Amino acid sequence: MDSKIRSIVKKLTLEEKVSLCSGTDFWHTKEIERLQIPSVMVSDGPSGLRKQNPEAGIREVNNSIESVCFPAAVNLASSFDTDLVRSVGEAIGDECQAEDVAAILAPGCNIKRSPLCGRNFEYYSEDPYLSGKTAAAYINGVQSKGVGTSLKHFCANNQEFRRNSYDSRIDERTLREIYLKGFEIAVKESQPWTVMCAYNMVNGVQMSENKRLLTDILRKEWGFEGLVVSDWGAVRDRVKGIAAGLDLEMPGNGGIYDRLVIDAVKNKELAEEDLDACVERILEFVYKAVENHEEGRSWDKGRHHSLVRDIAGECMVLLKNENKVLPVKSSDYVLLVGGFAKNPRYQGGGSSHIRSGNVDSLLMGVQWNSKIIYEEGFSATDDKFDKARAKRAVAAASDVDKVVIFAGLPESYESEGYDRKHMDLPQVQNDLINAIAAVNPHVIVVLENGSPVTMPWADKVEGILETYLSGEGVGVATALALSGKVNPSGRLPETIPLRLEDNPSYLNFAGDSSVIDYREGIFVGYRYYSRRKMQVRFPFGHGLSYSTFSYGKMTVDAEKMLDNETLEVTVDVINESDIPGKEVVQLYVEADIPNTKIRRVVRELKGFKKVFLDAHERKTVSFILDKSAFAYYDEELSDWYVEPGEYKIEVCRNAEEVITYKTVTVIPKKPKKPVYSENSVYKDIMEDSKAARIAKPFYEKAFASSDVFEDQPKECEADTTIRSVVNLNFGDFSYEEMREIINRLNGQKED
Ligand code: BGC
Repeated sequence: MDSKIRSIVKKLTLEEKVSLCSGTDFWHTKEIERLQIPSVMVSDGPSGLRKQNPEAGIREVNNSIESVCFPAAVNLASSFDTDLVRSVGEAIGDECQAEDVAAILAPGCNIKRSPLCGRNFEYYSEDPYLSGKTAAAYINGVQSKGVGTSLKHFCANNQEFRRNSYDSRIDERTLREIYLKGFEIAVKESQPWTVMCAYNMVNGVQMSENKRLLTDILRKEWGFEGLVVSDWGAVRDRVKGIAAGLDLEMPGNGGIYDRLVIDAVKNKELAEEDLDACVERILEFVYKAVENHEEGRSWDKGRHHSLVRDIAGECMVLLKNENKVLPVKSSDYVLLVGGFAKNPRYQGGGSSHIRSGNVDSLLMGVQWNSKIIYEEGFSATDDKFDKARAKRAVAAASDVDKVVIFAGLPESYESEGYDRKHMDLPQVQNDLINAIAAVNPHVIVVLENGSPVTMPWADKVEGILETYLSGEGVGVATALALSGKVNPSGRLPETIPLRLEDNPSYLNFAGDSSVIDYREGIFVGYRYYSRRKMQVRFPFGHGLSYSTFSYGKMTVDAEKMLDNETLEVTVDVINESDIPGKEVVQLYVEADIPNTKIRRVVRELKGFKKVFLDAHERKTVSFILDKSAFAYYDEELSDWYVEPGEYKIEVCRNAEEVITYKTVTVIPKKPKKPVYSENSVYKDIMEDSKAARIAKPFYEKAFASSDVFEDQPKECEADTTIRSVVNLNFGDFSYEEMREIINRLNGQKED
C-alpha cells in the first residue's frame, strides 16, 4: 500500500474513518475537508453512462444527463467478440472521464439461470466462460481510460423476486464452476477497481457480510486488489460488513450506523485493523480516481452513435433463414408490421436506463428501399387486440413479396425489480404472426427483447432475426442487417428452450419462498439440455450468417499432457461464399472418461474467436488451453482437479453440433490423494482400526474382483453383506462406517 495513504489513515480520527465507509449521498464518497480528502462520484451503467442530474430525486432513474445508449449486455455477449466489447468499454470510459465520473457501476456478470430473471438483459450469458471473458473485455476497455468499473452483483444474484432478502442455496461445486467462475475470470483478467456485493444471501449468509466470499475467495484466492462496494441499500449489519471486507456502503446511511461501528471498535467487537483496511481501500480508490482524472476532456456523441450503429449488427443473431429469405432485395415489395418498427425497444428498464437523445427508428433506416409499406398491426407497448388494425396488416400481407414483422417484449414486461411470469410474447403478436404466415409464405420476424421468448410460430416463418436490445442505433442497424449491407454475426449467449417448463431451474426459480435451492446444480443452460438430449428451439452458440463457412484441418500439439502444461489447438476456417462475413469459432471440451465417478456435463465452452473472412478466404485460428479447460471443482480437495483420462477438444457450430474434434489425454501433475479429515471414518483406514482391519480383506474377497458397484442387484447383496458383518461384530463399528470404508477402498482402486 501507498505510504501516502497509510499516513492519511494514521491522521484520521476513529469517527472520520467510520464516516468514510459510507457514501455522502446517492452517488458520492465522503469528503474530509480537514485532511483535504476529496469526494468522487460513481454512476450507473452498464449500457452507457447514467449520470443522474443533481436536482433529480433518488427514484427518478430516468432523469439523467443525455448520453449514448449502447447495445445491452446480452447483445455484447452475443457478439462473441472481445475486441468489440472492449471498444464499447473505451467509449463509455471516455464519457465517464469527460463527465468526471470516477467509476461506472458495471458490468453485471451474473448467470442467466432462468429466462425469467427481469435483469437478464443486463447480464451476459448462461455460460460462465463467455460471461467472464466479456466482462473482462468491458472492464479493460473502460479502465484503459482512467475510469474505474464495478463488477456486479457478486454473487449468485439470479432473480429479482425478493431480491433484497432471498437466500441462494448452492452446493460448492456449482458455486465455483457456474456462479463464481465468470467473476473469477473477470477479476483475474481485468482487476476491476471495484466489485459490488449483491443484495441476496448465499448459503445463509448475507452477501454484504460474507467474509468467505468477499475476503477469502475474492481477495485471497483470486488476488482482487480493489474496493468492495455494497449494492445500493444491501447492508444489514455494518459491523459485520466491515469485518467481512465490505469497504464502502452505498448510498450514504446518513450516519445511522456510524455510532454502532464506533462502539464496536471501542468494545473490541470489531478489530480496528479491519476498519483501517476498509478505509485504506476506499482512499486508494478515491486517489486513483483523482490521479487518473483528466480535466477538460470531452467526448464525441456523433462518433459514439455511429459506433453503436456499426456494432449492433454484429451482435444480432440470425436464428433462421430458410430459402435465403434474407437479405431482403431492393426489388422485393415488402410489408413492415409491428409497433416496434416505429417505437423500437432498444434498452432495458431500471438503474441501467440511459437518457438517449438520438434513437434511430426502423422506418428511418429503411430508406434503402422505396418498395416498402407499413402497417402497425399491434402496439409495441401492450397486449391489446385491435381488430381493424390487425385486419389491415393481414390484408396487406397477401399482396407483397415479403413481410417483416417487428415483434418483441413491451418495456413493462421486463425490468430490474421484478421477474417475468412467463416466456411468451404478448398474445396479440403471436396471433398476428400466425395469421400473416397463413397468407404469405415469406415472413421474417425481427425480435426486440432482453431475454428469450417462446416462438410457437417458428416453423411457419422463413426468417427470424434476434436483435435483443440494440441500443440507440437500433433502427438503422436492423435495416442494414435486413438489407444485407451488414452481415449479422452474433451467436446466442443462451439457449432458447421450446418452452419455459424445459428450463432446469423451472421448479426452483423464485416461487413463494425466500430460500432458493439451486437444485439443478451445474446443469445450467446448455449443460442441462445437452446432457438430457433435449430438443431446444435454438441452442447456445447458434447463429447463421449470409456467408457460408466450412472447417478444414484441425491440430493439437500433443496427444498427452500434464495438467500444468498447455495445449495449442488450431483449426482452419473457410468462407465458401461470395459474401464477406465473420465466423465465431467455438471450442468446447468434453470429458471422454468411461466409468467416471464425477457428475459430468456433455461439453463446456472453453474458447471462442471471431474472425473476419473475405469471400473465399481461409484462415487458421488458434487457441491455447490450460488446466482450467479440463478441471472440475473437487469438493473433497477444495480445489480444481483434472480427472486423468481422455478429453475431446471439439470445434462446434454451437453447443449441440460438433464439426470436428481431436482427443488428448490429460494427467494431473499431482494425482489426487484421499483426504482424511480429523473426524472422518477414512482416518480409521490409516490408523488401522478394527473396522478397517476387517474391511480390507472383506473388501478384497467380496468386492475387488467384481463390478459390484456398477450393478444394482449385486449392490443390494453387498449391502446385505455389510449389514451382517456389522451385526456379527457386536456394534464395534457402525454400518455407515463400514459402508464408507468400502466405498473409499473402491474409489482408491478406481484411481
Ligand atoms: C442496482 C445496481 C445499481 C445501483 C445504483 C441498485 O438497485 O442493483 O445495479 O448499480 O442500484 O443505481
